[in-house]
Amino acid sequence: MNTATTEANSLDLGLNWHNSFAALGVDFFTELTATPLPAPYWVGRSKAVARELGLSADQLSSDALLQALSGNLHIAGTQPLASVYSGHQFGVWAGQLGDGRAILLGQTAAGQEIQLKGAGLTPYSRMGDGRAVLRSSIREFLCSEAMHGLGIPTSRALCVTGSDSPVYRETSETAAVVTRVAPSFIRFGHFEHFAYRQQLTELQTLADHVIDRFYPTCRDTTEFQGNRFAALLQAVSERTADMVAQWQAVGFCHGVMNTDNMSMLGLTIDYGPFQFLDGYDPGHICNHSDSGGRYAFQKQPNIAYWNLFCLGQALLPLIGEQALALAALESYKTLLPAALAARMRAKLGLLGEPDAQQAATDRRLIEDILKLLAADRVDYTLFWRRLSHAQGGRAPGPVRDLFLNRAGIDAWLLQYSERTSYMPHGLVADLMLKTNPKYVLRNHLGELAIRAARQMDFSQVQALLTVLESPFDEHPGFDDLAGLPPDWASSIAISCSS
Ligand code: AMP
Ligand code: MG
Repeated sequence: MNTATTEANSLDLGLNWHNSFAALGVDFFTELTATPLPAPYWVGRSKAVARELGLSADQLSSDALLQALSGNLHIAGTQPLASVYSGHQFGVWAGQLGDGRAILLGQTAAGQEIQLKGAGLTPYSRMGDGRAVLRSSIREFLCSEAMHGLGIPTSRALCVTGSDSPVYRETSETAAVVTRVAPSFIRFGHFEHFAYRQQLTELQTLADHVIDRFYPTCRDTTEFQGNRFAALLQAVSERTADMVAQWQAVGFCHGVMNTDNMSMLGLTIDYGPFQFLDGYDPGHICNHSDSGGRYAFQKQPNIAYWNLFCLGQALLPLIGEQALALAALESYKTLLPAALAARMRAKLGLLGEPDAQQAATDRRLIEDILKLLAADRVDYTLFWRRLSHAQGGRAPGPVRDLFLNRAGIDAWLLQYSERTSYMPHGLVADLMLKTNPKYVLRNHLGELAIRAARQMDFSQVQALLTVLESPFDEHPGFDDLAGLPPDWASSIAISCSS
């Protein structure tokens, strides 16, 4: 359907809105409209997300959509609102938070919710200004699509619109809005909010909403004495385990794993000071504001459990028995290591189910290579990609060149070639090249695109989007986006300020 402006101040996108969150009632949100973003311009757009939403190329290039997604024009059928949630931040109960700068437009008939992040003040803005700056908006846009390209569950991003309108952080910057998309933005913190306030009716309404929309099989569970809320906790634990295993395997550090940033659907959400590792450092802290290293790379699996435990506590009034909640959480403890081992085995191209002896060999191979990578701070993405090519028949030189400890990597490569000697190398290399990306959104790549965007050159944002959408493909001509980071990359400091 064409973009059509219906009434004077309304745009009909033909998306057939439903708005099931808005139907929950006024305890869950405040209705409001976005604050207009003056004289907006396009910074980045995803044709893939537009297609998935059912928006045409014409719509995506229209001025009407630019205005609507910048908060300047109402979209017919939407019911804009900011939702209320609470949460634990850096391990401490933070009380009420809520959508301080994100406005939920509604839910399309196809079941996608659309949010405008940075669209102005809400009743939950607290000390903030309701805005998002250009740099963090570009990072969220690109990383959402990069994670999707990697096959990692995530919210998506349709576009970023920018403006010369000033916003003040450590210095004066400019404002932007990210249009982000997910089946739901409900967080652990939404449940913590109603549990803390002992609003048990609302707590149950919310749980049933999530079950009905996303986990309908929980309703008929035969586990947990038929307790659907325990089944919900287990299902969320399973999805979270799968997501975190994928983060660890690809070398993704989220940076702010507060319970208000944890999705009930096991999606990666709220991209802030995230980072894809350059050199492999298990203790890497990507968030400049995280002085204690609570969210260091290797701590993510345990932090996710800590967060699930908070969710379990919030659901306890519905679950009833503590033993059932603990049993539901147990699934994370089994699944996370199993999922991580499977992901790491795939990175090594180890096909098929291992027998007990092979499983032990594989565990050792993984542990040993991670130690070698850590000792020399070897570039994580380049190592796996080069290893994949070596399996495909290329000389192992480029792999060895990444290490100072040549004897160590030679010994490891020998063990690895023994383990894979009887495997079909073509198939192994195929699997590895589809598992180990050539392109990830390294900090310095984002930084260069941001610098250009500040000069109104958005070509780098679009070029990065192209390679990150299919990061396992070679993309001839874009090799400069797949090389080692420059020296200055390690001095980029990304904090919670956004
Ligand atoms: P975050 O660390 O980005 O997940 O944000 C934590 C909380 O602060 C959330 O409730 C956000 O909505 C809110 N917040 C962050 N930045 C701003 C801002 N500039 N204006 C209003 N609220 C904000
Ligand atoms: Mg957040």
